[in-house]
Amino acid sequence: MTDKKNYGFTTTILHNDRQKGIEHGSLHKPIHTSVAFGYADARQLASVFQGKEPGFRYGRQGNPTIAALEDKVNQMEQGVGTICFATGMGAIGAVFQALLRTGDHVVSSSFLFGNTNSLWQTTMAQGVGVSLVDATDVANVAAAITDNTRVVFVETIANPRTQVADLERIGELCQARGILYVVDNTMTTPYLFRPKSVGAGLVVNALTKSIGGHGNALGGSITDTGAYDWTRFPNIYENYKKAQPLQWGLAQIRAKALRDFGASLAPEAAHHIAVGAETLALRMERTSSNALALARLLESDERVAAVYYPGLASHPQHGISSELFRKHGSLLSFELKDGIDCFDFLNRLKLAIPASNLGDTRTLIIPVAHTIFYEMGAERRASMGIAESLIRVSVGIEDEDDLLEDFSCALEGC
Ligand SMILES: *Cc1c(COP(=O)(O)O)cnc(C)c1O
Repeated sequence: MTDKKNYGFTTTILHNDRQKGIEHGSLHKPIHTSVAFGYADARQLASVFQGKEPGFRYGRQGNPTIAALEDKVNQMEQGVGTICFATGMGAIGAVFQALLRTGDHVVSSSFLFGNTNSLWQTTMAQGVGVSLVDATDVANVAAAITDNTRVVFVETIANPRTQVADLERIGELCQARGILYVVDNTMTTPYLFRPKSVGAGLVVNALTKSIGGHGNALGGSITDTGAYDWTRFPNIYENYKKAQPLQWGLAQIRAKALRDFGASLAPEAAHHIAVGAETLALRMERTSSNALALARLLESDERVAAVYYPGLASHPQHGISSELFRKHGSLLSFELKDGIDCFDFLNRLKLAIPASNLGDTRTLIIPVAHTIFYEMGAERRASMGIAESLIRVSVGIEDEDDLLEDFSCALEGC
């Protein structure tokens, strides 16, 4: 297989490992567990360590199995380079460990995955300012930018309320101001959307979710799309400016975050994720159509007070979602009307499982305020538009009829 032809998304991912030469004819990249690596001689060891020739140094900074996954994710995002981490939070944390200094400022969407919100509290305690804004309107982002703003951070479809950031216009704003635009693409995945197309410089994916897709491995990644001009970033150390500017950001992230903080992906997890990724497109098609059918069913039910799904015409960012994303994804959330106990409802479901992962093959469901957003308290929840009765659904690949019947039955009280 040559890369002359423009293969489709799934073909490219399926055949990606073969591009780099197959070890012993193995069609899957083998799981390499060695922490240390051998060299032709001591001079070569020194030369690999000095970055003068390619090669692996020590397992914490990568190995062949992880490099194969990095290449696969990079293909999916059409980036210039990708680094994998032990978890999605490991990847998001790395952006800040590696790139921010005391006195810097970040503008972030206030509609965020709960742990990212918690990370901002830590970042603030360490002397980096964070302004949380409603990023569905670029004007709010523009108004929050200061001379010290280094990063703008948004999620494509926010977990759990599904607000869609003003992705394109925020990209234009960041480009004009020379600010690094970081997009968490977990909910859309590179199959539904490539943040590179709206000017994102770095793309984060929680590989744990839809890319791995089976709830059997944790992982995260950062892809440099090549869209950001690192000569405009003031925090790059001289050490990492030796190569082309296109490589400065990832060079610093690999050393200052992966090497120094050590949130390294396990090779076994990299293998699980790589196998899962082969069916990403098929699963995203199926979960998106299941989610749309379920969102429509819930919206037409009188016992449901509100449904949040970008695929519904009633969703405030339905237009942007339809324009930018191939499908609307597997995440939806809804509120039951007052008087209906959400725990009783959850307990009546037979297929949907009360659990806190996302992007699994199975449908998972969770009462948000009582679990993943419990620690932050009622006030912060209210500011993020999280009602106390909000239920989040990560729609799986079950047969549509079975899924719809499970929910109608639980709503009817059977
Ligand atoms: C789950 C998630 C993360 C973190 O991923 P982990 O692998 O669980 O650390 C980050 N961002 C979003 C949007 C997520 O859903």
